[in-house]
Formats: sequence, C-alpha cells, structure tokens
Amino acid sequence: MAQNLQRPYGTEDVTPDRIRKWHTVEQVVSQNAEAFGFREIRIPTFENTDLFMRSVGETTDVVQKEMYTVSAKQSTFTLRPEGTAGVMRSFLQNGLLNEALPIKVYYILSCFRHERPQAGRLREFHQFGIEMAGSASPYADAEVISLAKSIIDQLGLKNIELNLNSIGCPKCRANYHLALKEYFSTRKDELCETCLTRLERNPMRLLDCKSEICSEIAKDAPLIIDYLCDECAEHFEQLKSILCAMDIDFKVNPKIVRGLDYYTRTVFEFVTTDIGAQGTICGGGRYDGLIEELGGKATPSLGFAMGLERLIMTMENQGCDFIEEKKCDLYICPMGEKAYTEAAKIAYKMRSIGHEVAFDTMNRGLKAQMKYANKIGAKYVVVLGDNEIESGFAKLKNMASGEQFDISLDLSSENGFVDSFVNIYYSEAFGSLE
Ligand code: ATP
Ligand code: MG
Repeated sequence: MAQNLQRPYGTEDVTPDRIRKWHTVEQVVSQNAEAFGFREIRIPTFENTDLFMRSVGETTDVVQKEMYTVSAKQSTFTLRPEGTAGVMRSFLQNGLLNEALPIKVYYILSCFRHERPQAGRLREFHQFGIEMAGSASPYADAEVISLAKSIIDQLGLKNIELNLNSIGCPKCRANYHLALKEYFSTRKDELCETCLTRLERNPMRLLDCKSEICSEIAKDAPLIIDYLCDECAEHFEQLKSILCAMDIDFKVNPKIVRGLDYYTRTVFEFVTTDIGAQGTICGGGRYDGLIEELGGKATPSLGFAMGLERLIMTMENQGCDFIEEKKCDLYICPMGEKAYTEAAKIAYKMRSIGHEVAFDTMNRGLKAQMKYANKIGAKYVVVLGDNEIESGFAKLKNMASGEQFDISLDLSSENGFVDSFVNIYYSEAFGSLE
C-alpha cells in the first residue's frame, strides 16, 4: 500500500479480532461508573482552542507542544487533548451546575496529542474518565479514587500502585513558587528554552519537563507538600485516613504534580511497571479553580482519566481474562438456486429474533462451506439441498457434539423452523426447560 495512504503515525486500528478486549474494558468501566452513580456524557471531538489554553494551561507541554489545531475557513479549533475541559464547558453551557449537586458524569472518548509515538504513547488514544462537580469533601476524593481502584480490581489487574500527593491551592503556592524560582534560578544556564520562560510564568511546570537535564535538576527541587496551608494539609490528612479505613493502599509520592495546570490539592496516579516506561494507567485529582477559570461560579470539582490502550496492554501482559465474543448460532449451507432463496428467508427470520445467522454468499461448494462454518465457530449447521427443499425437512447438526435433529423448514407454522430451533438451542444450552 502506498505510504501516503497508510494510517497516520501514532494512530491504531482496532481490528475485529481485538475488539473483544475493548468491549471488556468498556463494559467494566461503564458498569462501575454507573454503580458509583456516574452518568454518561458525550461531547464534541473539537473545541475552541482557547478552552484548552485556559484550562489545561498555556505553559503546559500539552498546549505548547502537543495540540492538533485545525482550521476551516476563518475558524480554528483544537482536537481535544483530554476530556475534562470539554466536560466542564458542557456543564456550564447546559446549566448543569444549577441542578442538584454533586453532578457526576463519565465518558469514553478519543484524545489527540502530538507526542513521540512509542509503546503506550500514541497520537490518537482513548480515555475513560469521570468528572464530579460540587463537592469539596475529602469523601468525594475517596469516592473518585475508589472507583478507579474498583475498575482496576475488576479488570483483574495486579501490582498497580496508587501514588498520592497534594499540590495545595493558590494560597500555598505563592510561597512555593518563590522557593522554586529561587532553586531553579541558580541553575538557569542549564535549563531548556521552554523552561526558561516557564520559570517566570509558572515555575511548577519545570517539575514535569521531559528533558533529561531539567528533570535531573528537578529531582532536588523543593516539594510542594512542605508548603501546604493548614486547610490543604487538613484535607490531605482526612483523605489519607478515609483511604486507610477503606483498605485502599497508597503511597504518598511528593513528586507527583501532573502535567495539566488546573489541578489543586489532591493529585493521584495508578502506576504499573509491567508495560515499560509509560506505566501510568490512570491520572487524576482535584481542580477546584477550573470552573471559575472558565467563567462559572466557583465550584470544587475532581476526576480522573484512564488510558484505555495502556489498560489493555497491561491486561495482556498480565494474562487477564477478556470476554468471549458471541459466535454464529446457525450456518446454512444452501446447494442450488431454490435453496439459496430458502436460506435467505430463514436467515432473515432468525436474525430478526436475535440469533446470529450466516449463509453462503460466495457460491462455494459444500466442503468449503463447512470449512467456513467451522472457522466462524458456528454452533449449528443445516444443509439445504434439493431433497430437503422437496421434503420440507432438514437435519440440524450441533457442530460440537455431532448430534443431528430433524427440523421442519416451514417458517410460518407453529413447531416450524423457528420454534424447533429455539427449543433445541436453549434446551442444549441450559438443559430442558421442563
Ligand atoms: P504521561 O505522563 O504518560 O504523559 P499524562 O499525565 O500526560 O500521562 P493525562 O493527561 O493525565 O496523562 O491522561 C490520563 C491518562 O491517559 C494517562 O494516565 C495515560 O494512561 C493516558 N495517556 C495520556 N497520554 C497518552 C498517550 N499519548 N497515549 C496513550 N495514552 C495516553
Ligand atoms: Mg503526557
């Protein structure tokens, strides 16, 4: 295939042979979210670029280096690099914050970041995320964290560590920023160009610079946790004791700051070492200032996002179970013109009552048809030849046991094909109904 027709670097196809892995994860995340009282929300794939500048932050890697900004006619838009900004915008635009609080939503969506592709790092990837707005209580933090934990457990993942930190509020940050500026200023001539400008505008961003030298220097930088105000320190203490009471293990990691500007107080990451360097499968925290920043009334909020590709990779590496995809219930092998018409009629009827049915559309001989039926895992096969069409009866064969059943081809009568098939199918699957 010509190079210019291939899929863009850093994107993936999910072919049908892999889709059950996605279905497994999508089912577990949405069932858990619903059990915790979160409802699904869907938002556009692109938003006004300003929305991300405002929320994610102008000095973050995501905004400075990774956004896909597209123009059409006179307007420019940005493909969402994450879900939170769009959901908060949607809360405001639809007046959802005027209703009973807290409001709790979840989403499964694609995100776009122009990063260097590698295992677990793509340019189009998928997130499951949740947002909860209205509560400042540390019990809300624990609720959100425990939802992530519950999903990780139900997917069967092992050895996933919860790293927890508090990065305080604007009040604690005033002093902390001064300390950071002082620290990094002494090594100013070694910093990368981006970090030099960050030093003045947003010194916390230096802490998650990916450049080797900056991250080496950042290792000995002052820690935010030593600068928390009394209220933030108290909030963090409460959260830790709630998590202990819930038996959720965590490690305080004072180095976590997260890559997006909107975080305040609680930040957390679930990390595995099983998929190499890109081991963060879930990142989240609190963003109490975000809604006000976007023009709404101050409303504390929080949430997390999980990378679905990384979840699936970790599950594969750990040998976790995935759901089995449904197989074909009935394969019809028609031989001759009349039989094809009969097969089309039977298939249409059986499909309309929810059975997965297939029949030959390749004009293959019987042997090749049987081979195909085996390949797609058909549970039952029926051969329709001239004799069967004439007599109105055929043999229905259970492919696993080889057992055969007489079955009428009549579609209109009671005890015709539909009734007989359903009877045989369910009594073999679950035992006799009597
Ligand atoms: P990282 O530190 O790995 O770059 P991040 O802090 O940028 O992650 P978030 O913005 O918190 O990530 O997004 C939440 C989750 O989305 C991450 O924990 C990860 O699982 C996933 N994720 C982020 N960027 C990518 C990407 N480029 N490709 C695949 N998954 C990603
Ligand atoms: Mg990143």
